[in-house]
Amino acid sequence: MFMIGQGERVVPVGEPEPQHCPRCDEERDFQPQLAYKYGEFDLLFGFVYGRRYQLACPECNHGWRLDRREAERRYGKPDIPFRLRYGFFLLLGLFAALGAAYLANPPLP
Ligand SMILES: [Zn+2]
Repeated sequence: MFMIGQGERVVPVGEPEPQHCPRCDEERDFQPQLAYKYGEFDLLFGFVYGRRYQLACPECNHGWRLDRREAERRYGKPDIPFRLRYGFFLLLGLFAALGAAYLANPPLP
């Protein structure tokens, strides 16, 4: 049976940098983060969507979004678990293999 789940994660992607927080009205070490949502089937295959980079104040969580290309250039590619990153392609590959096996070995009429 297939179980389908989904969730959201926030991972830090780089060194904190000091920024003036308009909400705290003080200098804070803003943490660059990658937030993403993911879905998974049966805890084995998954996929990632709604990826966004943000800079967040550690005190009040106020923050703003970062440009994705800019952020990836600065912080490098984020560390997304393998099965979430490539799970969708693994799943497609599995279906393709099953389809090929079926075509190569069709059931007798
Ligand atoms: Zn703040």
